[in-house]
Amino acid sequence: MQPPRLSRRSRRKAGEKAVRARQERAKVKEQIASGEIFFFDLFKDERKSIARMKLMDLIQSVPGIGPNRAEIIFERTKISPSRRIGGVGHRQIELLRQEFLLIKASRQYGKLLVVSGPSGVGKSTITNRLRGDDRFWISISATTRAKRTGEVDGIDYHFVSEDKFNQMITENEFLEWAEFAGSKYGTPKKAVNEALQNGKNVILEIELNGARQVRKNTKTAILIFVEPPSWEELTNRLINRGTESEQSTQARLDRAKEELSASSEFDYVVINHQVEQSVAELVSLALR
Ligand code: 5GP
Repeated sequence: MQPPRLSRRSRRKAGEKAVRARQERAKVKEQIASGEIFFFDLFKDERKSIARMKLMDLIQSVPGIGPNRAEIIFERTKISPSRRIGGVGHRQIELLRQEFLLIKASRQYGKLLVVSGPSGVGKSTITNRLRGDDRFWISISATTRAKRTGEVDGIDYHFVSEDKFNQMITENEFLEWAEFAGSKYGTPKKAVNEALQNGKNVILEIELNGARQVRKNTKTAILIFVEPPSWEELTNRLINRGTESEQSTQARLDRAKEELSASSEFDYVVINHQVEQSVAELVSLALR
């Protein structure tokens, strides 16, 4: 069936209507960008031209939300980017509101970055390079492990007794803690929160179970997994480091297999071919 033919007058009217709708849409984007209107007011806007706009187009007009943040929001809320404003339900609006609050909070505070990966992969070498950089603050963990030659209490770790560590658990002083190769390791919460409040990007260099706890409890954390270029390379690094007994090296290699298979749980993977390159990648992920 042929569509009904429009008279010249109707065609002109339809053309004018389309132009008006385009202008309204462009104006609304400008108003959001300038802060003149609030993004969430759009859901109450009854104009058809606005209701038909795609979320993806509008969300990127909000100050502080670029394509990357927008992608993260859609990924986390599971809302389709092509969803139109008029089709967003109450529950989805609530999810979006929560995301906006998180973004606001993370702009004032520093970011929480978790650097994880198998023992021997070079995590500490990478994070140590950022020690002098005042945009970052490297968390110092508490551990029950014995001090290695060259390690300094209060710099590499807070070396504590088993009793002291257990007391810290009881008093809820850890952001996360875990057992690793026969010792306990934990991130003291107070110092991390203080650094974040001072606008520092905080780096936690921790193993897999700790990273999982952070993921669960701190939704804004960015999880980065450091991978070795190959299994052989990791084995060589761990053995040549010479810091561990044969038994501890074996325990660490066994754990490494488990950790490597969990890399997909992380937001980003950095392959540590070369330390400088890995540091640069870490910095760019932190500051994006
Ligand atoms: P190492 O004994 O080689 O210094 O550390 C062993 C493992 O424990 C490493 O994978 C290191 O990243 C991890 N680790 C260090 N501090 C913490 C911590 O506070 N929490 C957790 N969960 N792991 C940590």
